[in-house]
Amino acid sequence: MQDNLINVAYIIAAILFIMGIKMLGSASTAVRGNRISSFGMLLAVIVTLLRSGLDYKFIILGLIVGGIIGLIAAKKVQMTGMPELVALFNGFGGLASLLVGWSEFEKSLEFNWFLYLVVSIAILIGGVTFSGSIIAYLKLSGKIGGNAVIFPFQKFINLLIMAGAIIIGLLLVLDANIIDNSILVWVLIGLAVLVGILGVIPIGGGDMPVVIALLNSFSGLGAAAAGFVITNTVLVVAGCLVGASGLILSIIMCKAMNRSLANVLFGGFGSTNNSTTAEVDGEMKALSVEDSYYVLEAAQSVVFVPGYGMAVAQAQHVVKELAEILEKNGAEVRHAVHPVAGRMPGHMNVLLAEADVPYEQLCEMEEVNSVMPTIDVAIIIGANDVVNPAAIEDENSPIYGMPIINAHQAKSVFVLKRGQGAGYSGIINTLFFRENCRMIYGDAKATISSIVSQFDD
Ligand code: NDP
Repeated sequence: MQDNLINVAYIIAAILFIMGIKMLGSASTAVRGNRISSFGMLLAVIVTLLRSGLDYKFIILGLIVGGIIGLIAAKKVQMTGMPELVALFNGFGGLASLLVGWSEFEKSLEFNWFLYLVVSIAILIGGVTFSGSIIAYLKLSGKIGGNAVIFPFQKFINLLIMAGAIIIGLLLVLDANIIDNSILVWVLIGLAVLVGILGVIPIGGGDMPVVIALLNSFSGLGAAAAGFVITNTVLVVAGCLVGASGLILSIIMCKAMNRSLANVLFGGFGSTNNSTTAEVDGEMKALSVEDSYYVLEAAQSVVFVPGYGMAVAQAQHVVKELAEILEKNGAEVRHAVHPVAGRMPGHMNVLLAEADVPYEQLCEMEEVNSVMPTIDVAIIIGANDVVNPAAIEDENSPIYGMPIINAHQAKSVFVLKRGQGAGYSGIINTLFFRENCRMIYGDAKATISSIVSQFDD
């Protein structure tokens, strides 16, 4: 294939990536954006393979095999398991960068400082991303314990290993010849893998989504380095886009939890039980499905606040059904989505979109908070931390300062959860003890289905 033609195809692919990413910013264009970016990637892959002179039969075979694996993985995995799948994919991305860097090093016939520099970066970032992502996957899937693993001098040891890896990289770039370069590369791979493992084990399972966004960013940077190694422009562009967007996403998530990235990475959140022992005045008052029906029947405005429990219960379809019934009954319905509700960015938006909840009914936190005092009923579906008033009222609370949905300001609040347990942060929710709050115990899907059948009767 001609060089000019290849470059034009690469530019088109890069434009498609950027257009696609831009469209991911809104729920209504996200699916199209995803397709456009995937098409850009397909174009880039095909052109690259044709450039290398590979027989097109192999390209088709690769597309079929890869497509089938991707299709099965995407169909099989539950929404709650999506962060694990992303972790695994990031890990493979990191491994690919490591392998590209390594093989180019083995192929190189003579010393070239720039090549050795980018090879070292690709191996270091790729190795960290690979092993870190595998640990994140194992924690999220429950194959190993989700608690933060803390041991004495941990940060110092991590720093030492990281410094060791950087020194090895420098020895390679300077062609110091103290030890054979091939051995140095082996040591670099080992240290990079170790940094990934030791960097992720001190982070609690609940914080893994932030780590995954960060590792995603690393996988992009690793790919960009690999792009320099094999002088492939589109890989550099795609890698930088992934690197930047992953980092922005990590920062957005940290902001929404009111924690710094350093606190997530080094704070050991989840190593101990964070639950506060503070006494809360009042008691939790249970409500029957029948009684909740009478209140909802008369409600003029209802806000649904979904959280992680909605994902666990897979209640999104019955939520939509109840919302439709309430609307027909004359109520104004909104779905208030907190940026970190659930266990991954956009978790609730994806579930509600899957159930075809109209986009107009989706409300951002600030928007719904401004009207909350006028709302007749706020229905909390398996959400906990994101509606805990302690975040704005109790300076001693570990989640103090985290922006919340002010559901406690609604005239009535119904909380749908299975028992009296705490949310992800392990903190008692003072909302549950308020005068205007009633607990409807049980699996969220079963509870909402029962309310729906009350309306049907
Ligand atoms: P929480 O984890 O705080 O609470 C979930 C609630 O769902 C629990 O109270 C649980 O109570 C309930 N629940 C579980 N299963 C069911 C079920 N089948 N039916 C009904 N209820 C159920 O979730 P939130 O969404 O409110 O908050 C998210 C938390 O995760 C925040 O603290 C956030 O910082 C954190 N986080 C989020 C990330 C993200 O990317 N979104 C990333 C990292 C952390 P019970 O067991 O009694 O049923």
